[in-house]
Amino acid sequence: MADNFKTIKCPACQKEMHKIFIPSEGINIDICLDGCGGIYFDNREFKYFDEQDENIDEIIKAIEGKEFIKVDESLPRTCPVCGARMVKNFASIKKEVQIDECYSCGGKFLDHDELTKIRKQYATEEDRSADTMAYLYDTVGVKLKALDAERERLAQSRSWLKRFFDHLVGMDSKI
Ligand SMILES: [Zn+2]
Ligand SMILES: [Zn+2]
Repeated sequence: MADNFKTIKCPACQKEMHKIFIPSEGINIDICLDGCGGIYFDNREFKYFDEQDENIDEIIKAIEGKEFIKVDESLPRTCPVCGARMVKNFASIKKEVQIDECYSCGGKFLDHDELTKIRKQYATEEDRSADTMAYLYDTVGVKLKALDAERERLAQSRSWLKRFFDHLVGMDSKI
């Protein structure tokens, strides 16, 4: 994983972002302190901050009491580190908060307030995994059931066709 060291421009409002050092993880994250309050996480950094039991004191300290400009969160964004077009994805299977992700370098951009919203969803990494597993089980389970029904339907029409052909052959032999 590469923590980027150069100053990057906010993908939402184009202001220069500030590097905030997180001692517990030994990494820097980029926050748009002079603009929209958005936060950029390099590849894999985000997982250290997305649940309630993880410490974000440094981030809170940095943004506390500041006024941030409003940005249109629906606009497409370009990754400030590698220049690729970012993709909007839901932060979790709860589908409540959409964040911008860079599939090229793995960076993630969160608009102001999104971090707090995302952290409210799960207390711990275990809760998140359990919820994801339950969701997968539900969707995959439903799909498997549909497949079974389809297989059953095919088997039935096949046996109907077979009877039909047997019938034809029977007719044929009678001629
Ligand atoms: Zn910004
Ligand atoms: Zn990127």
